[in-house]
Amino acid sequence: MEINDAHICGRFHQIENDERGSSYSDPTIYGNLNPSKETIEAIIRTLEEGSCNGYAPCVGYEVARQAVATYLSHDGVEFNSKDIILCSGCSSSLDLCITAIADGTKNHNILMPKPGFPIYRTLAESIGVGVKTYNLLPEKKWQVDLLHLESQIDDNTAVIILNNPSNPCGSVYDENHLRAILSIARRYQIPVIADEVYEQIVFPDKKFVSTAALESGVPILICGGLAKRFLVPGWRIGWIAVHDPINAFDDIRSALSSLSQKIIGSNTLIQGAIPDILLKSPQSFHDDMINTLCENAKVAYEAIDKVPGLVPYMPDGSMYMMVKIDLDKFPHFETGLQFIMRLMEEESVFCLPGDCFELPGFMRIVITLPGDIMKEACDRIVNFCNKYYT
Ligand SMILES: *Cc1c(COP(=O)(O)O)cnc(C)c1O
Repeated sequence: MEINDAHICGRFHQIENDERGSSYSDPTIYGNLNPSKETIEAIIRTLEEGSCNGYAPCVGYEVARQAVATYLSHDGVEFNSKDIILCSGCSSSLDLCITAIADGTKNHNILMPKPGFPIYRTLAESIGVGVKTYNLLPEKKWQVDLLHLESQIDDNTAVIILNNPSNPCGSVYDENHLRAILSIARRYQIPVIADEVYEQIVFPDKKFVSTAALESGVPILICGGLAKRFLVPGWRIGWIAVHDPINAFDDIRSALSSLSQKIIGSNTLIQGAIPDILLKSPQSFHDDMINTLCENAKVAYEAIDKVPGLVPYMPDGSMYMMVKIDLDKFPHFETGLQFIMRLMEEESVFCLPGDCFELPGFMRIVITLPGDIMKEACDRIVNFCNKYYT
C-alpha cells in the first residue's frame, strides 16, 4: 500500500492515542507539571459542598462566568459575565465560534495559520465550511505574512483565526504585530477568533498581549481554557469571551448561547471550582511552569543549533519549539516524515511532523518534559543526525 502523509499523521496520532491518551499537546504525561494546590483544594471543596452536582445553565454558572470575566479583565480590557460562555475545553469553544460565524451553505471559508493547529480545519470542514491558510514566517519569529494573509481574503471569508501564543511555533506576537493583523481584519470587516489557550505562557522577558486589549474596532471571540495554563487538559473546561467593541455581534452572542445547548453546559464540578482555580493559584505556580519551559527551550535550542542539518527556532512562549529539517543534508530520507519515523524507530524520540500542522520539512518538539529527559532526547537527536548527516 502506498503510504501518504495523511496516513502517517494518522498513524502518529494513533500511536499517541493508543499508548498515552491524546498526548501530543498534553503537558501532564511526565508527571513533572502538576496543577496548583489551590486547584486541587477547590475541587475537593466543591465536591464536599455537593452544590455542583446538577445541571448548570448551558452557558455556565453565573459565578463561574463572572470569575472568568474577572480573570480576563486586565490591561484595560473589561469583560462582564454576560460576555462569557463556558465550554467543554477550548476545542469546544472553537467549535461553537466557527459554527456561529461560518456557514457552509453560504460557501463561507475561514482563514487559519500555516503552520497551525489542525483542529481548526477539522471543525470547519465537518460543517462544510472551507479552509484557506495564511503563511507564518519562520525567519521572522513566525510572524504572520501580512501580504499573504491579505491575498487569501475573499468575499466568502467569514473569519480569521489567530493563535497567539502559538502551537506549534512557540511564537508570541507583540502589540505592533497584532495591530497590523487586526487592521487588515478591520479593513475587510472580517471578525477574528483568537485562540489564546496559551495566554500568559510567555518567557520571562516577553509580554502576552490579548487581541482584546488593542481597541482595534474588530469584533473578536477569544477562546481559552484551563487546559494549558492550569495544567488540567483532561478536565475539559474552556471558555469563549465575546469582545465586541462595535456591537456587531448581537446575533453571534445569541447563536453562541443557542449552540451551547448542544453540550448542555460544561462540567459543573470544575465550574464550581473555577473562581478559586483562576483567582487563587499563586504567581509562583505560574512562574515555576514557565521556568521549566524556558529552561527546556534553552537546552533544546543549544543542543539542536549545533547539529548540522537542523535549524531550531527559539520559542518565546507556549510549550513547543519548531525545528527545520534540511533534507539536502540527510540524503537517506526523501521527506521529513521519513526522517521523523526513523528517529522514532531508532532512538524512541517522538516529534510530531510539521505535516500535522500543514508544514512538511519541520518537526515540533515539546518542551514540557522533565529536564533530564529533555537532555536525553536532545542527545539522541544529535546522535541520530550525526549518523545520517552527509
Ligand atoms: C491544546 C490546544 C487547544 C485545545 O484545548 P482544550 O481545552 O484541551 O480543548 C486549542 N488550541 C490550541 C492551539 C491548543 O494547543
